[in-house]
Parts: sequence; C-alpha cells; structure tokens
Amino acid sequence: MNSPPGSTAAIAADAWERAVASIDEAETVCLACHVCPDGDALGSMLAFAQALRVLGKPFTASFGDVFVVPRILRFLPGLDLLTDPGDYPAEPDVMVTFDAASRDRLGSLAANARKAREVIVLDHHASNTRFGTTHLVDPGAAATAAVTERLIDRLGVALTHDMALGLYVGLVTDTGSFKYAATTPEVHALAGRLLATGIRPELVAREVWDRAPFGYLPVLSAALGRATLEPDVAGGLGMVWTTVTRADRAASALPYDLLEGVIDVVRRTDEAEVAVVFKEDDEGAWQVSTRSKGRVDVGMACVALGGGGHPTAAGFTLHGEVRHAVERLRELLAEIEVVTRT
Ligand code: AMP
Ligand code: MN
Ligand code: MN
Repeated sequence: MNSPPGSTAAIAADAWERAVASIDEAETVCLACHVCPDGDALGSMLAFAQALRVLGKPFTASFGDVFVVPRILRFLPGLDLLTDPGDYPAEPDVMVTFDAASRDRLGSLAANARKAREVIVLDHHASNTRFGTTHLVDPGAAATAAVTERLIDRLGVALTHDMALGLYVGLVTDTGSFKYAATTPEVHALAGRLLATGIRPELVAREVWDRAPFGYLPVLSAALGRATLEPDVAGGLGMVWTTVTRADRAASALPYDLLEGVIDVVRRTDEAEVAVVFKEDDEGAWQVSTRSKGRVDVGMACVALGGGGHPTAAGFTLHGEVRHAVERLRELLAEIEVVTRT
C-alpha cells in the first residue's frame, strides 16, 4: 500500500461507493463490533447507529456474547440502541463490522456474518483478514473511528454531539490520548471536528482513565508487586510482565472490566521494550495485553499465540498456564525482527 498513512486513498473509491450504495439500498442494516468491545469498537458502532437513525434506516446493533458493556464505556450515548446478540438476524442482508480484524473476533456473531449477503468490514488493523464483501480497511488510520467518520460523512449525515462522542472515545483510546505514533496531523484535525460539536475532553478523560473504585488500588498494588523484569528477552531489549488474578479482584470485589489501565502503568518500565499483563477473567481464562515501544512487533507474537492486534498494542486469550505462555513469548520475541534499534 503506497498511500500515505491516514489518507483516504488507502481505501479504494469503488469500495466507498459500494458501501454507501449497499447501505442506501438496504431495508435494514446489521451492525456488529468485536467481542469485549473497547472504546474504538463500541464508540464507532454507536456513532454509526446514530447516523442510521438520522437517516431513518432501521438497524440492529450488537456484539457477540458475553453481551455486557464494559463499565468504563457505560457513559457512551446510544447504549439504548443495542440489541441482545440472541435477537440478531441469523442471515443479515447487509452487515457492517467495526474494529474486527477477523471474523472470529465477532464471537457469537461470526456465524451471522458468515450467512450475511453483504459484509462491509470497517477497520484499521493491518492484519485484517478481509473477511467481508466490501472492505473499508485503512491500516494508516489511528482508529476505526476515523474510518467511521468518513463513512458517516459520505452518507451525508452531519455529526451530532452524541455521534462525535463515540468517535472521540474511539480516537482517544486507540491513540492512548494522542500519545502513540499514529497521532498524525489528520488525527488532531479529526479531534478538532469532533470537539467542535461540544465534546468536553476533560469529562471523557475522567470516565476513560482517571477514575476507579478504591478497590482498584490494592489490586494494582498486588499486580505491580509481582511484576517480573526479564532484561534478556527480545534480543536484550527487555520484557516486563505481571498477572492480575481472580483472587486479587475477589479480595477487593473489583470487576474484571476495570483492569484495562494496568498495562499503562506496567509499560512505563524503562528497562523493557515489551510489557505484558495477564488478566484472569471471571471464567478463569487469561486475557493478555501486550505493548511495545515501537521497536518490536508484539502483534506478530500475539497472532502466533492465537490473538492479534497492532505492532505496538496487541493481545490474545490464554486457556493454559501463564508460565507456558511467558516461555512462548520469550521464544517468539527472540525470533521477531527488531524494527529499529534507535
Ligand atoms: P488490549 O490490550 O485489550 O487493549 O488490546 C490491544 C489490541 O490487541 C486490541 O486493540 C486488539 O486489536 C488486539 N487484541 C486484544 N485481545 C485480542 C484477542 N484476544 N484476539 C485478537 N486481538 C486482540
Ligand atoms: Mn479494538
Ligand atoms: Mn481500533
């Protein structure tokens, strides 16, 4: 792909035209985002659902089981537009997916996507498997929210405050609050357009990052207290890893979905290029978050472990033992080419 990062040219003109025509012609449109949705997945889908409402187009919007909106996203406008995935059409005519790099990321709605006549895949993962019939995939986009804004614009819908809030949450979460390398001038231009609808950035930041119940502090303390630094991993660039167990959370009655910020503390470690947090969910599986500072592609390692993501932020689900996964990570990170050694 030769187009500059974040440019609309990454998506073919005919793909835009097909997507707009399909949505215009559809009697009803089915929306889905990836399981355990983050701000980008759910914010983009809810913004789009509200755009369809403005158009007067009937729709169904959902995400695969478990159908629980993460606590930190419960301030998003439009949650009332969601439908239980059990009530989702089995064979959608036109389906649009948000922030899902592969069909299996749709969880229980993957079966519906398989049966859909048309699937418009809206995403920004370079690893996207192009599982649809029309692909609005821009690996240069900082967030799926940026691609979603372009589609809303092409449908001729003016952004409302509530649509823009979903898109803004997607943009700030996927850029780490405008800190990651994907934060181009276009990202700030988009943020400017979104803010112009009346969004209060300080309120968004408080909801997304700057609040937690008191019980978060002992859980964070336990996780940080057992963090392990392995300086030799990744060709000497270093890895830091830790766990957050169900027992940690039970002691403070802390729900699983409040653990997203733990990786942001762990990844500060100067001595480690790679940071990994194993989070035990309520079913006993480990949801694993990985981050790199740009010199190692953790996305490749996570794909090898059955997950996916971006070069600097990726994850996978582990049903086995943490020590085995750490061992696999050591091996994979030894093999993965270091991008630059600045
Ligand atoms: P997280 O650490 O949960 O913030 O996830 C970082 C990124 O990794 C996400 O934006 C996804 O692109 C990807 N990711 C996380 N978990 C998985 C998974 N189980 N399977 C595939 N991709 C994942
Ligand atoms: Mn996502
Ligand atoms: Mn995203």
